[in-house]
Amino acid sequence: MSAAPRDNAPSQPIPELICELCRLFYQLGWVSGTGGGISIRGPEGIYMAPSGVQKERLRPEDIFLLSDQATGEHDCEVVRGPATGLKVSECRPLFFNAYRLRDAGAVMHSHSVWAVLAARLFAPQGGPGEFVCQGLEMQKGLRGMGCFDTLRVPIIANTPRESQLTASMGEAMQAYPDVDAVLVAGHGVYVWGRDWVQAKTQAESYDYLFRAVVESHRLGLPVGGA
Ligand SMILES: [Zn+2]
Repeated sequence: MSAAPRDNAPSQPIPELICELCRLFYQLGWVSGTGGGISIRGPEGIYMAPSGVQKERLRPEDIFLLSDQATGEHDCEVVRGPATGLKVSECRPLFFNAYRLRDAGAVMHSHSVWAVLAARLFAPQGGPGEFVCQGLEMQKGLRGMGCFDTLRVPIIANTPRESQLTASMGEAMQAYPDVDAVLVAGHGVYVWGRDWVQAKTQAESYDYLFRAVVESHRLGLPVGGA
């Protein structure tokens, strides 16, 4: 038996893991229509899917490896990329926000309809705003959150190009240091974690909470918290 892997270290190569997670997230409706994406930090750098591709059909050789030393907002150093003419994800500067500002180990970007509706419910004019929820067991899936706490997630306004979200997402992250997610009005959500397991757990928990609050509103039940 080989040496025990470090906690939550993937048991498979990261490009394979990204492809597997993309297929799972496609089934949840998070990355349909080529939208959304996943990025994971590995010992060699930052792994990221290409832009504008069918996320459920990604192959490990399509995944980019970027230097985590890159400092420019709109440029990046590609350590290893696919041989085909694919472009690195439009979400790159947003993913780097989580790596630089929060020392994240992985970032998930979902176009889930529940995230879109939750943002619309709390910011009907398109943001900025704040999603609020309270008293749900699944809040325990989020870092530092108990089921009776009040969860507040920032909502930022959408922009014509994904990369134009970089500054407002960064500001929201600074304003909500205890929250590992930013909702984008009319668009979706960015969620990160210290590693891919925590990022996935939090992304699933957030999606559940967004759905629970949206459905509560539809049923005429109280939504949100204090
Ligand atoms: Zn997007």
